[in-house]
Amino acid sequence: MMGSMRQLVAKIPSKHRALILAVSVGMAIVLLLPSEQASASRSSNNNALEVGKRYSLDIPQSEQQLTEAAATDLNVLALETEPEDLLQWASLQVQRGDVLSSLFRKANVSQQTMLAILDLGDSTKTLTKLFPGETLEFGLNEQGELTELRYAINKLKTLRVSRDLQGQFVAEELEKEVEHRQQFASAEIKSSFWNAGIEAGLSDAQIMKLAGIFGWDIDFALDLRAGDSFSVLYEANYVDGDFVGYGTIVAAQFQNQGQVIQAVQHSDGNYYKPDGASMRQAFLRAPVSFQYVSSNFNPRRLHPVLGTVRAHNGVDYVAPVGTPIMAAGDGRVTHSGYNNLNGNYVFIQHANNIVTKYLHLSRRNVKVGQRIKQGDTLGRLGATGRVTGAHLHYEFLLNGVHRNPRTVKLPQATPLQGADRELFIASAAPIVAELQTKERVLLARTAP
Ligand SMILES: [Zn+2]
Repeated sequence: MMGSMRQLVAKIPSKHRALILAVSVGMAIVLLLPSEQASASRSSNNNALEVGKRYSLDIPQSEQQLTEAAATDLNVLALETEPEDLLQWASLQVQRGDVLSSLFRKANVSQQTMLAILDLGDSTKTLTKLFPGETLEFGLNEQGELTELRYAINKLKTLRVSRDLQGQFVAEELEKEVEHRQQFASAEIKSSFWNAGIEAGLSDAQIMKLAGIFGWDIDFALDLRAGDSFSVLYEANYVDGDFVGYGTIVAAQFQNQGQVIQAVQHSDGNYYKPDGASMRQAFLRAPVSFQYVSSNFNPRRLHPVLGTVRAHNGVDYVAPVGTPIMAAGDGRVTHSGYNNLNGNYVFIQHANNIVTKYLHLSRRNVKVGQRIKQGDTLGRLGATGRVTGAHLHYEFLLNGVHRNPRTVKLPQATPLQGADRELFIASAAPIVAELQTKERVLLARTAP
């Protein structure tokens, strides 16, 4: 669906052509409205859905063809009513070594004209920083005078220089509309979360974002299991039908060891559970990002060394020396030191009589008394003290008693309140329903 990346700058339609297109799209939509339903259901019946593929939720693929077909009928009409459209357009691609003056020369436009345009100041300054491959479009009138100049600054913005009624140049920036299409991805975790994300067609940034959304509920480093799964509704951004980048994650669902956790983005940009509870909590489940942890996921031994957890009252994260170690929650550093047993170690005192401890660091980044925020790097993973190999030894104490940081019940962060909460719950429900429906459909299609 994103395979046909058409060259955007190659043919920017003049405003009249744009008008024709707009009109014809409108006509096409009116003409074809009844059959749209049919084509939508046909495509969902015939296209076998596969796990690990990205699915577009919208099916306006035929718009382009419709547009072109309808546009031919309107061309004549447009030419009659819009005489200015008789501009001769020359499209020049910037070559290595080209400067603005050489492009104007190639387009048979005088250097005086170029200077007049540059005299407009900041608005046309961007023309002095052209890159090879970019395109300038020169629109000349019958007398060969430059009437309009267009330059696609990027996929979204085009600089348009034209003449006003007095014949003076004016510059404006035309911004294209970004269309946010909602897409769905889902995958079952077989080898690792990262691989499952890639298989599902997610970008690196989306995978990290997903881990971030659920990082207060799930220890991505140690607690994922084969058979865990996730589904994501996210936005993909399109301009003129071309994919230009990923947008926000709208909602996601994670199934971890039988527990289902759902997150929906609120208008404040943060994620909440469908009942309005915050995804954000006072403590991260893991003080190490999952991508560093080598024993992240071992398909042959699905249960990490839990036996040792109890034996030494902590959790071990095996990762390369130098891996950043994050403060699990906001707090104050009470210890930052070295001894033969712990090696380099940092202790943090948090609210609610909670203490977290980080041992065997190769490096400490914090001092005693220092205030620290959740996610701040307090040091680097190492192999100092009495250890058999590089790892982080992490402890979580509540009222002086060791607790398992990955399962301990934590105080709830402030949920959404009042009308805000009501509004969120009402809008989240259909989104979660959509997510679950899509997942069910996908499962049904891939079931043996
Ligand atoms: Zn340990």
